[in-house]
Amino acid sequence: MYDLVVVGAGPIGSHLASKFIEENEGSDVLLLEKGEVGKPLKGTGHVSTDLFNYIPKDESFVEKEIYGAEVHNRFGSYSFGKDRQTSYVIDRVEFDSFLLQRAKEKGVEFKKEKFLDYEAEKGKVKVETDEDIYESRLLAGCDGPQSDVRTAAELDGPDKFLHGIFTNQIEVGPIEQDYVEVFLNASKDFFGWKVPREESFEYGLAVELGKDSREALERFSDKEGFNITDVYSGLIPVNPPEKTYKGRTFLCGDAAGQVKPFSGGGLVYGMTAAEIAAEEIDPEDATTVEKYEEAWREELEHEIKLGNKIRKIYKLPFWLRAPPLWIGEKMSQEAHMDKPSSLFRYEGDKTSS
Ligand SMILES: Cc1cc2nc3c(=O)[nH]c(=O)nc-3n(C[C@H](O)[C@H](O)[C@H](O)COP(=O)(O)OP(=O)(O)OC[C@H]3O[C@@H](n4cnc5c(N)ncnc54)[C@H](O)[C@@H]3O)c2cc1C
Repeated sequence: MYDLVVVGAGPIGSHLASKFIEENEGSDVLLLEKGEVGKPLKGTGHVSTDLFNYIPKDESFVEKEIYGAEVHNRFGSYSFGKDRQTSYVIDRVEFDSFLLQRAKEKGVEFKKEKFLDYEAEKGKVKVETDEDIYESRLLAGCDGPQSDVRTAAELDGPDKFLHGIFTNQIEVGPIEQDYVEVFLNASKDFFGWKVPREESFEYGLAVELGKDSREALERFSDKEGFNITDVYSGLIPVNPPEKTYKGRTFLCGDAAGQVKPFSGGGLVYGMTAAEIAAEEIDPEDATTVEKYEEAWREELEHEIKLGNKIRKIYKLPFWLRAPPLWIGEKMSQEAHMDKPSSLFRYEGDKTSS
């Protein structure tokens, strides 16, 4: 019998599996993945420097160092944190592969199988895949925004999704730009972005699920003068569901809606939650999944709620967005891209940067 079966070898599943083995020496962890790791491309890979509080920095996936952002409203541009390194752009295919390799090196067993369903039994769960049935003390759903584990557990999903879409424009010669750009008029629901990569600029945007994201990208391309070549897209959960566990099963990462609602970034929040799960959940005592739920909400829920308020600014008419942008620009010395609360911190309270 396994101690933990993790469904989904995305970044959060691989990280959870690694951390669980670290915290529970000698435990047996099985990681299941239905597709090709990292493919199709699942996101931009713009992450705060905090990423390396969780994993070692590795040349294989770091593409560019980023110094802040420029935000374009209709009649003006605002700079945020351009005076310091705020973030990195990473290669998501390399990153996801790196994390899986790391998990394997720590002793996680990996199988290319699709999770289908599970049954809760006394003291264990029986996990059914397209190849076999496995017994485990615990089951983790790290299988992305449309989580099959969440559905099998009959847990509610996030109440709202955005649909993100992006394309890459290859440039001739080195890319000097070292900041990201945000276009508030590119989408009525969110924003458009231009992110410098090693050899290309990535252009993308998000709209509420159900709206035509391709058409919005075409309008954005006409305005900014880039070509649409390869196109990638994915769902971004906006609000975590009410409950992220049931019995011996729990959710982590996009499956649990652990995403920054104002930027769509899910890597740092998902990794934070994965580490909390590894610390809090004891395979010998399944009731500890409740502790995980409490602890991840305590760490992230306040920031997610604030992030949702910030997201509402994108929907305001451009002239109503100007005052908060102006104030944000003035306060951006204090701002941390994963912690909207940092914008509201008093001078004397800088302990949790
Ligand atoms: C357009 C866009 C841009 C983004 N940009 C950023 C960004 O710049 N920075 C950032 O931090 N975040 C960004 N994100 C969010 C980020 O991509 C996600 O938060 C992150 O991928 C979540 O990781 P995860 O491991 O939870 O899920 P995923 O990366 O979705 O991985 C889930 C894995 O589970 C597997 N799986 C699913 N179902 C099953 C099954 N039944 N059986 C077995 N395996 C299964 C999938 O194949 C997949 O490999 C972006 C998202 C989008 C859509």
